[in-house]
Amino acid sequence: MRYQRSSALFVEAKKYIPGGVNSPVRAFKAVGGDPIFVKEAKGAYFYDEDGNRFIDYIASWGPLILGHAHAPVINAVIEKAKKGTSFGMPTEIETELAKLAVSMVPNIDKIRFVNSGTEACMSAVRLARGYTGKDKIIKFAGCYHGHSDSFLIQAGSGAVTFGSPNSPGVTQGTAKDTLLAKYNDLESVRALVTANTDEIAAIIIEPIAGNMGCIVPQEGFMAGLRDICDQEGILLLFDEVMTGFRLGKGGAQEALDINADIVMFGKVIGGGLPVGAFAAREEIMSHLAPEGPVYQAGTLSGNPLAMSAGLAMLTELEKHPEVFESLADKTEHLHEGFDNVLKNKGIPYQINRYGSMISLHFTDTPVVDFESSAKGNNAHFKKYFHGMLDKGIYLPPSAFESYFLNDALSYGDLDETIAALDSLTF
Ligand code: PMP
Repeated sequence: MRYQRSSALFVEAKKYIPGGVNSPVRAFKAVGGDPIFVKEAKGAYFYDEDGNRFIDYIASWGPLILGHAHAPVINAVIEKAKKGTSFGMPTEIETELAKLAVSMVPNIDKIRFVNSGTEACMSAVRLARGYTGKDKIIKFAGCYHGHSDSFLIQAGSGAVTFGSPNSPGVTQGTAKDTLLAKYNDLESVRALVTANTDEIAAIIIEPIAGNMGCIVPQEGFMAGLRDICDQEGILLLFDEVMTGFRLGKGGAQEALDINADIVMFGKVIGGGLPVGAFAAREEIMSHLAPEGPVYQAGTLSGNPLAMSAGLAMLTELEKHPEVFESLADKTEHLHEGFDNVLKNKGIPYQINRYGSMISLHFTDTPVVDFESSAKGNNAHFKKYFHGMLDKGIYLPPSAFESYFLNDALSYGDLDETIAALDSLTF
């Protein structure tokens, strides 16, 4: 049996860990079957506990943009670990990573490191509220900003995969301060702003959405949000946990040529170790403790191992900015290959792509927001996912996720992936 050991490990895991996993999407619930347990990984591949090799299209859900176990990152972590793993005191490497990040990203003066994307978004919203003195935020249906209470309102990603975009446990009191707009629909934002004059602290958005599949902002949408924020004294928060240091050095702000007021990072900035961060201009960041009154803290924040992985990763990207174009080219190759195959099969589909983010939706209507993303044919998706898995191609186990290409993928790997799709019957 191809997945014998993985299945046995899952049985054991379920005895001690709720659902056998430490993050819900890993459990394969949306697609059925038992999850794959990973043993090790290198470059574009991982190997499971049964010895099967997979071409990996999630790469830890984004962080490993240069592939698994990338030597400069691994070596930096090993060397750092020999000198101690955590101090709870300032270390020089925190400033080094901060300085590098600030030099790469437009429009930010200072950055604060935390331990996850969730923490980054949660803290950024607190800062926006503290700075503006207002309570409400606008988020978009299908966008995911981590599992902090205020974001589990029509959330995307695992939350919607598991049918709980509004989680039990989030109080009415919290929910009332999160207003919901439609992605790519400025009118839905204007209506909320008009109905809540002087009450909205922030609009938080994934500038390229990746948690309802990959969804690209339509012409004028992001500029429209910027205008509304400027007119109404609202802060524009870009959740660049996926897009930061992936679309280019300067992330979505640079790619879309829009300045955000606070930018949140995760994934790539930690090089595969637990790091999140939020950043803004001096005027806003000075409101943060210990300089200002908005409290935010963390025992392991700025952890030396995490900082060394992040520093090695960003240094690589800074030295080799051609990586971003190479990744976009590879993603385009996959897109074209999938297009050719699927056209021949005659089944309805849409492919959305931006840079190295891409998703396939089994529907004939354009996927521009959560509603259209949810129209995808789930039976087709399950066949696709499991068919590809059995051919050694690991895709996100939910239609509501973007794929993340990594630069270790070769054109041979991409062609193997396209051929695998060609061999499937729907
Ligand atoms: N924001 C976005 C856009 C994300 O995609 C994610 C996670 N996939 C998060 C925030 C939360 O990050 P984390 O899982 O590190 O808490």
